[in-house]
Amino acid sequence: MSARPHVAVLATGGTIAGASPSATGASYTSGRLSIGALLEAVPELGELAELSGEQITAIGSQDMTGAIWLELARRVADLGGRDEIDGIVITSGTDTIEETAFFLHLVVDTSKPVVLTGAMRPASSLSADGPLNLYNAVAVAADRDARGKGVLVVANDKIHGARSVVKANTTVVDTLQSPGRGLIGTVHFGEPRYFRGPVHGHTLASPFSVDGVEALPRVDIVFAHADMDGKLIEAAVVAGARGIVLAGVGSGNLSSSALEALTAAAAAGVTCVRSTRLPTGFVARNVEINDDEHGFVAAYDLSPQKARVLLLLSLLGAHSGTELQELFQRF
Ligand code: GLU
Repeated sequence: MSARPHVAVLATGGTIAGASPSATGASYTSGRLSIGALLEAVPELGELAELSGEQITAIGSQDMTGAIWLELARRVADLGGRDEIDGIVITSGTDTIEETAFFLHLVVDTSKPVVLTGAMRPASSLSADGPLNLYNAVAVAADRDARGKGVLVVANDKIHGARSVVKANTTVVDTLQSPGRGLIGTVHFGEPRYFRGPVHGHTLASPFSVDGVEALPRVDIVFAHADMDGKLIEAAVVAGARGIVLAGVGSGNLSSSALEALTAAAAAGVTCVRSTRLPTGFVARNVEINDDEHGFVAAYDLSPQKARVLLLLSLLGAHSGTELQELFQRF
């Protein structure tokens, strides 16, 4: 029997598997390299763990869907329940890695490490960041000390929590950041160090489940700006949204006419959550907008895209407004 831990790697595409016609050109296509080629490109992974690989999909993560999240959740649940598996790595594009990580953080019932990683430079470019990111992700997934910390995202020597991580820059390799919360730890050439664990509920301590769920409800995000009207909010309702997340200005604010449309949506039974388009800070209840009167939920420090994930999972169950607000404070 091998003394090495066994790490399963699930590939979804992204720039980490991207190929470009030139080692110095900016243009490339995501998801060109197979999981086999990704693993073969980093033979040093064998020093860390015994590996098995699986190709879940091969997309740029801008094409990530609820259906793929459900499939990933099922594969992680299956692998996490197997005695011979010690940890799981998921390779992904970075555009929506923060949403995929948070979705899994809330639904998978395992304490084994589940680690997402990606890259900003395609595999064929100069100084590609994918190989070392993959090496570090496997090191964290193989590490018993990473257990119980929820879903993690590893890139550029940093270990982020799924709830806090955001993509903060369009091109730099240090694009993934945890503003306002800080890192879970660092990982330097396969050596992880941890500073803290996540403080909100996750994985085994989360009530959310996608067992038997075939499709996720529609939840739209509406972006607030100067001279905003309520037309996009009305369009979301017509499109069948069961939830709307407002990427509000400031503390989750919006113009008077948009507020009227959001209030009408809430009165019609659409769950409306106020978040902010700002990169940091809290949207608390009843500050400039009286959420009690309008029937809204405050997102606290969840970004619009993370609030959307929590909202669509919350909508799988029946919750009163008070319970929904409590979920946004606990998770
Ligand atoms: N569009 C790419 C993706 O998310 C962006 C870069 C990356 O992969 O990290 O797939």
